Amino acid sequence: MIEFIIFAALAWFAITMMKDLMRISEQKAIENAKKKAQEAMEVTRAEAEAARAEAKARAKAVKAAEAEEMVSCAICGTVTAKHEAIATQGQYFCSEPHFLQRPRSEPVAETPVENTTESVTQTTSENL
Ligand SMILES: [Zn+2]
Repeated sequence: MIEFIIFAALAWFAITMMKDLMRISEQKAIENAKKKAQEAMEVTRAEAEAARAEAKARAKAVKAAEAEEMVSCAICGTVTAKHEAIATQGQYFCSEPHFLQRPRSEPVAETPVENTTESVTQTTSENL
């Protein structure tokens, strides 16, 4: 009978130990899972940030490309960046020689802007 009690006690002890061990390993597994999830989240956040930065850079590049309007030379048709071209009277030239070659058949007659408002105010003030 005492043997049975000892055996039962040992069995109970063994079961409790096993339960404890299982619980500990379970907790460890949960902790690991949590850590992994956190790491994954951090990675996702980093990736999102990288993607955002990339999108920003791309938008910036697109904007820069848009700002850098391309024009073609009126003489040879060479496409040049607008800031590098020589511009005159709405025409663009790739280089100074081509700028000098520009057709000058139609001289721009700058129509002097008549200041009509001034005369109008003058007449009105005279009338008053
Ligand atoms: Zn040219």
